[in-house]
Amino acid sequence: MTSRHATEPLALSLAGIADPRGSGSILDTGRVSGIKLADDGTASAVLAVDGLPAAAARALETEIITRLRQVPGVARVRIIQTSERHVSGPTADANGLASVRHVVAVASGKGGVGKSTVAANLALALRRRGLAVGLLDADIHGPSAHILLGIRTRATATSDRRLIPVAAHGLKVLGMGLMADPDRAVAWRGPMISGAMVQMGPGADWGQLDVLIVDMPPGTGDIQITLAQKLRPAGVVLVTTPQALAVADARRAAALFRQLDVPVLGTIANMARIDAPGGKLLHPFGKADAPKLEAALGAPLVAALPLDPAVTAASDQGTPLATGPVAETLAGVAARLWEELEARRA
Ligand code: ADP
Repeated sequence: MTSRHATEPLALSLAGIADPRGSGSILDTGRVSGIKLADDGTASAVLAVDGLPAAAARALETEIITRLRQVPGVARVRIIQTSERHVSGPTADANGLASVRHVVAVASGKGGVGKSTVAANLALALRRRGLAVGLLDADIHGPSAHILLGIRTRATATSDRRLIPVAAHGLKVLGMGLMADPDRAVAWRGPMISGAMVQMGPGADWGQLDVLIVDMPPGTGDIQITLAQKLRPAGVVLVTTPQALAVADARRAAALFRQLDVPVLGTIANMARIDAPGGKLLHPFGKADAPKLEAALGAPLVAALPLDPAVTAASDQGTPLATGPVAETLAGVAARLWEELEARRA
């Protein structure tokens, strides 16, 4: 964990660098933010390169790295560059999230661990509590919300070109699967992805919502950073299988979100067992060891879900289950999550 005390020398070391475009230091203008020092000696910071020619951005990054490296206790430096400059279009400034009470990201380090399945079913569990809930499928390259929820229509737009979420199973839903031809692979690059995220997030007409669940793309790259900045989630729920390989990736995701000041609210261990006939338990991905997972991810293990073939089939058919061990466990998670979100807001 990073303490304020530990990051102060880092910030001090940067205080003398002037912002090439603004009046004041790069700290005053907000050009550098999220300064952290991890236990392993990795110092990191987020550098916004907006308005800087590439050469100036590189020079500034080099100077930041040089100065941070001189701070005692720093073994290496990691700078994350961000930019808003490619975001444009009619919807970029609208704030369709203004009436959304809580935005919650559901993320994983690895693909295939059941993140989308959990995101959709968690959204439904919140809905069953009587809350107004949206689901934003932000997995541009592998959208699945439309399949999981059996949506066959496409999103429409308002007269001022704001996307209108599709209603399904009581949820408001947006995602690439509701916009593009679902059989075409999307080979979009960074700036276009960023633009699409703005259109589906703050640019869309979400209306009044208690919770917007964001099904994040797997991984720890630019897109996760962009999404965290555009959607400003109140927290993230991590999904992983108990397998060490998946947990290692989830750990990286947890670190990234913390760096972006998005608290990790809890972890869900998915496919943590198979309830086999005769009361036998199988653990194809290992057992969900709560102390171990909590130590690795720095967040409470809020649920361990079974691998349930009925869930796989329901997902393929687009008819999510309201009963069974997965739905019932997620109902408990939804209750706890709602309480936590409200408590954090208070
Ligand atoms: P991700 O979003 O992490 O890539 P998905 O949600 O697409 O993962 O899930 C991957 C596959 O595992 C899908 O076929 C999905 O139906 C299945 N699946 C996920 N969670 C469960 C579960 N608890 N029980 C049964 N099948 C599951």
